[in-house]
Amino acid sequence: MSVLFADNLRFLDTTLRDGEQTPGVSLKPEQKFEIASRLSDIGVDVIEAGSAAASDGEREAIRRIADAGLSAEICTFVRALRTDIDYAADCNADSIHLVIPVSDLHIAKKMRKTRDEVVAMAMDAVEYAKERGLIVELSGEDASRADQKFLHTIFSQGVEHGADRLCFCDTVGLLTPEKAAEYIPPLAKIAPLSIHCHDDLGFAVTNTMAALKAGASCAHVTVNGLGERAGNTPFEEVVMGLEVLYGYHTRIRKELLYPLSSLVSRHTGVPLAVNKAIVGEMAFTHESGIHAHGVIREPSTYESVKPEMVGRKRRIVLGKHSGSASVEAALHEMNYKADDRQLKEIVKRVKQLGDEGKRVTDADLMAVADAVLAIECKPIIRMRQFTAVSGSNMIPTASVTLLVNDVEMTGAATGDGPVDAAMEVLRKCVGDVADIRLEEYHVDAISGGTDALVEVTVRLSKDGKIITSRGARTDIIMASVEAMIAGMNRLLRDRT
Ligand code: MN
Repeated sequence: MSVLFADNLRFLDTTLRDGEQTPGVSLKPEQKFEIASRLSDIGVDVIEAGSAAASDGEREAIRRIADAGLSAEICTFVRALRTDIDYAADCNADSIHLVIPVSDLHIAKKMRKTRDEVVAMAMDAVEYAKERGLIVELSGEDASRADQKFLHTIFSQGVEHGADRLCFCDTVGLLTPEKAAEYIPPLAKIAPLSIHCHDDLGFAVTNTMAALKAGASCAHVTVNGLGERAGNTPFEEVVMGLEVLYGYHTRIRKELLYPLSSLVSRHTGVPLAVNKAIVGEMAFTHESGIHAHGVIREPSTYESVKPEMVGRKRRIVLGKHSGSASVEAALHEMNYKADDRQLKEIVKRVKQLGDEGKRVTDADLMAVADAVLAIECKPIIRMRQFTAVSGSNMIPTASVTLLVNDVEMTGAATGDGPVDAAMEVLRKCVGDVADIRLEEYHVDAISGGTDALVEVTVRLSKDGKIITSRGARTDIIMASVEAMIAGMNRLLRDRT
């Protein structure tokens, strides 16, 4: 254990409350439930499941989560209003995150009240919540801009009236590590203190760490750093920062971080920046020759975190920065044997593809290797006919006729859209021959405009073998079909 931090640091995850306040995000009750279960599994101490006062759907979700017997404590956001507290108690929440404005700016401009009036409201709410059997985390909103003497007074009185825990909310991301070092210690002496930071200036993690170092014992976080405006403190970054940089054991099941991040991104529809720490698509991907070469020999040369630690895999991608070591490693994985002269030629052609601005997929590399090694590749799957239809008042449907090992197969499938239907019908038709799964689907429009060339990249897997391939057309459905068939053909080739 590190001496810098409290022995038993806790995490309150607010993905389902502050995270859901990300503009444009709205989760269905069953999606909230799924995320809550996974948060509990990964080892979060408290789940802020929503704002009970928000809507019927929200209350349904909170009640379902609270009644599920998860090991995490289930909390809900409330204002200092008895009606909000009643909603929280009626949803069977264990605890409330009771938020009170504490800066004069918020008290005067937002609440149009005096400090005394706010203190009175807060104390009434604390007492009422305790009467209703709730654990109370009393939270000072906009605490970093508050008169710290006033904050200390309201927190002390809150604890006297029964509050169990306190929280310092840096509501608009104006805290600094220096201020945290000054403000946090006296407050942390009153009662267990949480830190709740926002990332408006990109300081959320830094400020959270500073507050934990200064005596806060719980970090409010969200998965992927979702949250109002620029978001909250990302869960995965605080966990891995504590573990890797400070040698602190968090008790979080880190290998579940990436699956959780993907689930939240999928349910919220908020994509991750490709270069996002820990969970971004490229966080464990290497292209440059020097880096890839180093990583192949010894991963720690260019990786500070082992990808397996957070449930991920290292990826070497090929492109114009690739050296012969990464190309050779990729060929070896695909069971190709090239001599030095052939390898040189393959590297040259891979770099050419990169220079043309293409991401080089596995299927591209195989096509290059086949050409250089003069291997004949007879496609196993050939397409005879393909149709996809969609429109209003109908279910998107796709039909296809394929020749699979020279046997004609015809099928039809429906989907959420024509692309989804197309992917499904291909998978179904090939299903008799092999169980191929679509792991990832990615679209790039190469130029703007509705006539743009669309590039579709897919990641397919079969019995643990993974392959990427690409299709490029002006028609997004045909580009998807092309990518699927190219990838399936490569996966089905027996090269063992
Ligand atoms: Mn917040």
